[in-house]
Amino acid sequence: MSTPVLDCRGLRKVFRGQVVLRELDLTVAEHEAVVLIGASGSGKSTLLRCVNLLEPLDDGSIHLDGEHITDPRTDPDRVRRRIGLVFQSYNLFPHLSVLDNVTLAPRRVHGVGRARAEADAMRLLERVGLAGKAREYPDRLSGGQQQRAAIVRSLACAPRLMLLDEVTSALDPELVGEVLSLVRELRADGMTMVIATHEMGFAREVADRVCFLDGGRIVEQGSPEQVLGDPAEPRTRQFLERVL
Ligand code: ADP
Ligand code: MG
Repeated sequence: MSTPVLDCRGLRKVFRGQVVLRELDLTVAEHEAVVLIGASGSGKSTLLRCVNLLEPLDDGSIHLDGEHITDPRTDPDRVRRRIGLVFQSYNLFPHLSVLDNVTLAPRRVHGVGRARAEADAMRLLERVGLAGKAREYPDRLSGGQQQRAAIVRSLACAPRLMLLDEVTSALDPELVGEVLSLVRELRADGMTMVIATHEMGFAREVADRVCFLDGGRIVEQGSPEQVLGDPAEPRTRQFLERVL
């Protein structure tokens, strides 16, 4: 078997005496889309933040493409350049145009020249139907457009792994679809992703594997048909009864 893109082993995270992740193992293969579901507070965001090295672990280890990234000698900035993280809202810098948002990291962090960075950014923006908004500031865009621009901004650094944390939760219902279709496209392109979502229909459609979290543990995982359609664990069943 080839090296997984992401390999989390025995993750433990404690906030002020509260165990938020416990003995959590998660392996994600290249081109795999893993969807995290679970009640609010079950640890989905914390898991994604730990993977992006925004939270230190209390125990366990994380490997990205075989590299031990939770080794204390690792430079977190270098790791984050290989991971795209998009969360609920406030992803874009409000004082920069969409184009400048998208080209910022390629230019500043990866040393790409302005002309090339802008050409690459325009190509990505065209793909998601936002080329016409390139010179606008984020507050001139709808929430759905802002989220699509935020995803494009992450893609501009050609990440190995995308982490999407409830990217549609802050959107008006009519704007959810356009963001989900972009995620669908990323999946079709073979992007390796870990997606936390409340949208069960979307989870069923886009997931290669669904993981149900409860109390900081993955208590059940499997194909979307199995986990969402015929869960083995009573806790999964109870959760699905509440949300479906
Ligand atoms: P989810 O994303 O599944 O809703 P979270 O990972 O956000 O869950 O939260 C898991 C638990 O960790 C919750 O009880 C939450 O209150 C707690 N928590 C998350 N972040 C912090 C923090 N920075 N400080 C203290 N507690 C936190
Ligand atoms: Mg969350």
